[in-house]
Amino acid sequence: MELSEEQFERYARHLILEEVGEEGQIRLLSSRVLVVGAGGLGSPLLLYLAAAGVGTIGITDADRVDLTNLQRQIVHATERVGALKVDSARAALAAVNPGVRIEAHPVRLAAENAEAMIGGYDLVADGSDNFATRYLLTDLCCCLKKPLVAAALSPFEGQISTFRPYLGPGHPCYRCLFREPPPPDLVPRCETAGILGAIAGVLGTLQAVEVLKELLGIGESLDGTLLMYDALRARFHSIRIGKDPHCPTCGTPALATVQ
Ligand SMILES: [Zn+2]
Repeated sequence: MELSEEQFERYARHLILEEVGEEGQIRLLSSRVLVVGAGGLGSPLLLYLAAAGVGTIGITDADRVDLTNLQRQIVHATERVGALKVDSARAALAAVNPGVRIEAHPVRLAAENAEAMIGGYDLVADGSDNFATRYLLTDLCCCLKKPLVAAALSPFEGQISTFRPYLGPGHPCYRCLFREPPPPDLVPRCETAGILGAIAGVLGTLQAVEVLKELLGIGESLDGTLLMYDALRARFHSIRIGKDPHCPTCGTPALATVQ
């Protein structure tokens, strides 16, 4: 692949970076990333991945744009209320960078369709808002050996990590941290709990940075670290995540079954 004149100009601020350069930009243009959820996290994530020239971006979301989404889901617009979120996001991304290929999957990710969908991508970014999807992605991305960059939000906080448990010792998965999903009645969702919209922007943007780092192979990965943001105290802090040798997803017996 060679960059066109338009691409040399569009990606000029990447190309002058030693850590990216022409080789890195071509790597981004050849990459395929699946973004699960075109919501609060997915919005800045999708916009930055498209702007950065990630060549193929898959978006999976079964929902339609609702007026209440627009307080934080900045990839959507008032004129697209009622449209499928994947179509609304596609329109916004095409306006930023028409050179990026968008693959829209207007379906809810479930055990029946997830494996085939994930298999077609190099990396998965989880911007979903529910535990069923988070655990499904945790298990499948481990099994299919796909890096998973996952973030989650609460009203005034957020957390993010990268999972590559298939690399072995020292590389935990989400289940090493939280073995099972919490009972459904303990889980506040945006509709009931509320959220300061811009916090989704902070975490979704961090997700975009970590996805680009993984694709480029630069810097330190968040693999093995949970980074947490406390908006009210204006603090970031991080904790190490240990690998649980008895983890049902990535522990030794599971690895033995996979191999
Ligand atoms: Zn694990």
